[in-house]
Amino acid sequence: MAHEYTNEIKCPYCDYEFSDSWEFNDSDECSEVDCPECGKEFALTVNIKIDYSTEKISCKDQTPPIPHEWDEPTFHDIDQEVIDRWNKEHWNAISDREPYRMWTRECKNCDVSEFKRVELGGDCPFIDEEK
Ligand SMILES: [Zn+2]
Ligand SMILES: [Zn+2]
Repeated sequence: MAHEYTNEIKCPYCDYEFSDSWEFNDSDECSEVDCPECGKEFALTVNIKIDYSTEKISCKDQTPPIPHEWDEPTFHDIDQEVIDRWNKEHWNAISDREPYRMWTRECKNCDVSEFKRVELGGDCPFIDEEK
């Protein structure tokens, strides 16, 4: 009645389940444990699995902060035609929306992007920060 890869230590004789198994996590690789239920000794092996996850943080959160390295800005024109189509597709769309141009740029080093709304045909509004 051996038990393998259980979340809690289980006695192989009586199936008693320990509720504080973590207390054994830094015991030697293989140790002998007394079952508090049936009193028998059994061999315990602790299998510890470690995972790592990473994700980018904003350049501004680096120590010290570094300037974003912006990609070439791109824009989308939200002209009258697009607004008319939105109004047709979504009955609850805001019908008095003015046409505009949306500029976007993304940082090559982190996942931050910037959006700025200007009038239709407007120039790129982004100003590069001091390097
Ligand atoms: Zn037991
Ligand atoms: Zn950045």
